[in-house]
Parts: sequence; structure tokens; C-alpha cells
Amino acid sequence: MKLGNNISNLKGSPTMGAAENVRKLLAEKQDVVRFDIGEPDFDTPSHISQAGIDAIKNGFTHYTSARGIPELQNALVADLKSKGLEAGKEHLIFYPGSKFSLYSIFSLLLDKGDEVVIQDPLWPTYASIVEYLGGKPVPVNDWNEDNPSSFSVEDYASKITSRTKAVLLNSPCNPTGATVSARDTQKLLDACEERGVPLILDRIYSSLTYDGTADTLPSYDIERGNLIVVSGFSKEFAMTGWRLGYTVASRSFSKLLADYQENTTSCPASFVQKAAAVALSAPRDWQKKMNEEYAARRATMLRGISKIPGWKCAPPAGAFYCFARIDSSDSVAYAKDLLAQKLVSTVAGAYFGRSGESHLRLAFTTSQQRIEEGMERIRSFAED
Ligand code: PLP
Repeated sequence: MKLGNNISNLKGSPTMGAAENVRKLLAEKQDVVRFDIGEPDFDTPSHISQAGIDAIKNGFTHYTSARGIPELQNALVADLKSKGLEAGKEHLIFYPGSKFSLYSIFSLLLDKGDEVVIQDPLWPTYASIVEYLGGKPVPVNDWNEDNPSSFSVEDYASKITSRTKAVLLNSPCNPTGATVSARDTQKLLDACEERGVPLILDRIYSSLTYDGTADTLPSYDIERGNLIVVSGFSKEFAMTGWRLGYTVASRSFSKLLADYQENTTSCPASFVQKAAAVALSAPRDWQKKMNEEYAARRATMLRGISKIPGWKCAPPAGAFYCFARIDSSDSVAYAKDLLAQKLVSTVAGAYFGRSGESHLRLAFTTSQQRIEEGMERIRSFAED
């Protein structure tokens, strides 16, 4: 078999890879404290699951349009409106996960050598997708650990060249948890608009902030074409395994995305869409409780980090990760040793871009008790 040239740019996901290593240890019944995986440990709320089960029982198990079923479209249009963005059904496309939304967008945008301006530290999948498609991620090293809320539109705008095909912003950010205010997001969008470059907003963690950053969208006429919103149901609704993401984009770009989708996945699972429509339209008291639990876990983890010699961490403003500075310039080896010696799984900061080295990402997606246990193990590892 002769493989295509692109294969040289294909990388596995380091976060998925870390999870795979841990699964092997768990299969051997090892008592691993898991801080590696970026997924809610909460079950999908039962009213949402029930809607999916009902859909299957009622025979709702056939193809749908890539543009989604009407009740899901309606629910998302209303949700976006409540956050400040007027969009119509014609602006929505649904995918089996927002990872594939991003892959689809970049498949349409990128030619070899094209650039995408992205914050750094960054979620590694952005760089992997862009590079696999022949593009070049251009990092903006904008994270200031001592002042994590600082943000400079100019840092992004100055990286835009004639080869730039998009600027990508993830707020709250995986891995740092940094948030970008509505005002700064709007300013960045204006700067992109002036230069005729689309701003892609990945809002997958937007419902989870600790600093009061509102879950709002820029007020923008989506038909102008320079805003593409990406999000999904994985984190906000504890629905990772259901696989459902979406894009909001201009009518013409959405048409291309729909064509692309029709030739790749066809559509996301039909019954998943039914469940998601209920997720969006039913009351969200449960979500408030889930977010309060994340806030308590965050405090527990930060307290634990403060006791580890040589470690420090800028409190995350959103999402469910602590991106802690460690006392080592080889985070890959550090994470490996920590797992081998103390059975605590983390993800090495080196995987999260140029400014990620000397950090570990720790997800607080496990109980407070397990967080305390894990932090204690790390403390004894650092003191050895
Ligand atoms: N965007 C970011 C920043 C993420 O961290 C993730 C998952 O970890 C995703 C997108 C993809 O989410 P999904 O494909 O489950 O919708």
C-alpha cells in the first residue's frame, strides 16, 4: 500500500493518547487518579438521555439533513438569540462532534501553506488539523500567567498576513482556562472584519466560567461572513459520547459545509439530535449544580497545587482545567514518571504549544475526594 503524502502530517491526539495509556492501567485494576481526560464525569442528565431513548423506541433512527432536525434548529436559534446572536436555521450545520466541525471548516479554507492565527497555549487538535490539511498554525503567545485576564487584540492582528485564512479563538481556553471578555472578542472580530479574515470562535466551554465572564456572543450580522461559531454538547450538557457539535456561519459558507458534510458523515445520529433539542429547551437547574461542583473542585485543586513545592497555577477563569507550572523543563518525562510512580495521570504541557512546556494540564473532572488524593500523591512525588 502506498500512503498519501499527508500522512507525514498526521499526529495522534496527545490527550486521547494519555487517556489510552490510563485505560490500560485501569484494566489491570490499578488505582489511577485521573486528571488527564477533558470530559465531564457527570452522567448525561436523565431527561436528556430519556429523549434519546424515546427517539430510538419511536423508530427515529434514520438519516436526517446535515442541517439538523427542525426542533434542534429551533432550540439552537433561540439559544443563540438569548446570547446575543441573531442567526437562522440556514446558518446552522450539525456534526458528530465539534472536532469534526473544525476539521470541516479548515478543509474548506486551507490550501498548502495557508496560515491560521491561534492562541498559544492551545488545544493540540487545532494544530494537528491545520497541519494535516497543509496549513500552518501561527501562534500568539498571549498568555500571561501573572495576569491571565490580559488580552491584546494587537497581538493577534499583527500576525495576520496575506496568507492568513482565519483567526481562531477559544474562550474559555483549553488548557489555560483563560477567558476573553465580550468587549475584547468584539474588538478582535472588528479587527478581523477590517482585514477580511474570518474569526472562528470555539465556545465549547462557554457555559462554565468562574470570573463572571458572560456566555455571550458578539452582536454581528452573520451574513457578513467573518464570524464562524463552533460549539457542541459535549461539555455543557455532559454529552461527550453522544457526539454532537455545530457551526454557525454565513448562508454561503454553511452551504459549502453542508455539501462537505453530505459527502463525509451525512449527518449526526438522528436520536442524538432529539436528545440535544431537549437539552437546549428544558430547564437547566441541574447545570447550575454541576457548575457549582466544578467551582468547588477547582478550589480544592488550587489549594492542593499551592502545597506542592515548585508548582504554581494561575486560577482558571473558565473550563475545567488547571494549567500548572511545574518545577521541570521536561513535562513529558515528568508526567510519565508521575504516572509510573504515583499513578496520577496528567497531560504534559509540551503538547499544548510552544509556551506549554514546564506545565501540566490537570482536569478537575473527578470528585473532590479523588482530587485531594491525587494532589497529595503529587506533593509526595515533588518532595521525593
Ligand atoms: N474544542 C475544544 C477546545 C476542546 O477542548 C474539545 C474537546 O476536548 C473540542 C473542541 C471537541 O469537542 P467535541 O468534539 O466532543 O464536541
